[in-house]
Amino acid sequence: MTKYDIIIVGGGILGLSHAYHALKAGKKVLLLEKNSLALGASVRNFGQIVPSGFGERWQTLGRASLRHYADIHSKADISIRKEGSIYIASDNEEMLLLEELAAINKSRDYVSVLWNKSACIERYPNLHPSYVKGGLFFPEEWNADSRKTMPALALYLQSMGMEAGYQKMITDLHATDKEVILFDNYGEKWIGDQVVLCNGDEFSLLFPELFRESDIEVVKLQMMETVPQRKDVVIPGSVLTGRTIRRYESFKECPSYHGITEKQNKSDYEEEKGIHILFKQTAEGTVIIGDSHEYAPVSQSDQLKPFETDEELNGFMLFAANRIMDIDYSMLRTWNGMYSQSKNGEIFTRTIDGRIHIATAIGGKGMTGSLGWAEKNIQTILGL
Ligand SMILES: Cc1cc2nc3c(=O)[nH]c(=O)nc-3n(C[C@H](O)[C@H](O)[C@H](O)COP(=O)(O)OP(=O)(O)OC[C@H]3O[C@@H](n4cnc5c(N)ncnc54)[C@H](O)[C@@H]3O)c2cc1C
Repeated sequence: MTKYDIIIVGGGILGLSHAYHALKAGKKVLLLEKNSLALGASVRNFGQIVPSGFGERWQTLGRASLRHYADIHSKADISIRKEGSIYIASDNEEMLLLEELAAINKSRDYVSVLWNKSACIERYPNLHPSYVKGGLFFPEEWNADSRKTMPALALYLQSMGMEAGYQKMITDLHATDKEVILFDNYGEKWIGDQVVLCNGDEFSLLFPELFRESDIEVVKLQMMETVPQRKDVVIPGSVLTGRTIRRYESFKECPSYHGITEKQNKSDYEEEKGIHILFKQTAEGTVIIGDSHEYAPVSQSDQLKPFETDEELNGFMLFAANRIMDIDYSMLRTWNGMYSQSKNGEIFTRTIDGRIHIATAIGGKGMTGSLGWAEKNIQTILGL
């Protein structure tokens, strides 16, 4: 029976990122995924690759990811585009935070450009002028059409030598002093020297007690996608707006952040549902709009009702989006996405018996941070 150097369980972006770096290190890699393709957070997200949204540590990891994405893009079409990201301020407080973030990024040698109102509207003519105070543009950032990027990335890894088994739900694994033995729900068996478990928000199959007692919470987001826009509606890159400025981790480093957000009404509907409005146009011309955030511990994640869409919430997000951008809001589809996050803002890791390495709960930064973070994790696992 073939023995692999590394077996990755979970075909989301975190699993594929580990596979990529293990392959680059010359290892024999097997990926095992329980569905016939990745169906979790990694294909349900916005696809924004935005190191600008994170504090120093994850920004650095995100910038490493940008370099890896660019390298992969130069070798294979994985449906990613370097179109930059823009944060649009709707008032003077948000504008002040943008100015402060620009200064922080300058000190870190990360390019960002402050735009006045007319520059924002020139580049994004569909913005309502009444909403816009100014913007901060990050030209280095990319975005992914994730539903295409994930299968394309998996194919590219297979061209690098990765073996992949889909519809392989791993229900048992245990380490001996020589190897790890894994079984799926049909009793099929694999052997690896090391296993990396990137199980996303699936906590019932393996190590359920460990996850139930961890600091992990599950987050549900609601998303919408419009019909393709008219040809003259072009919205390059990621557009992040006022509430995002008041919410994303990077802004917490701004000197004025706490003074500004302390005054915010903590009990309004937007705050309660974690709503902030983001726009991203796909290659087909549709526009993805979101999102909202509802939280539950692992033991109560079924209470997030993953099958149910809260129409009132979608209605509110549409109303808010309409005040920002003048586009066709006829809907093509709506969906929910779930991701897991560690409450410490990092990622959940645990090594069991020296050979089974759990890495999950990367939170809302997986498309941005996975390639950068997995590079370091693979180096640790392989002792490189
Ligand atoms: C709506 C939404 C919008 C987001 N927007 C962004 C964004 O714009 N930018 C950004 O950086 N991040 C974003 N995120 C976060 C990002 O999508 C996640 O951090 C990331 O996808 C997590 O990847 P993952 O590989 O850990 O999990 P997943 O994508 O959930 O993958 C886990 C995989 O493991 C498989 N699996 C689990 N257990 C087993 C088992 N026992 N056997 C076999 N297979 C198993 C599952 O089937 C699944 O395919 C968003 C998330 C959501 C939900």
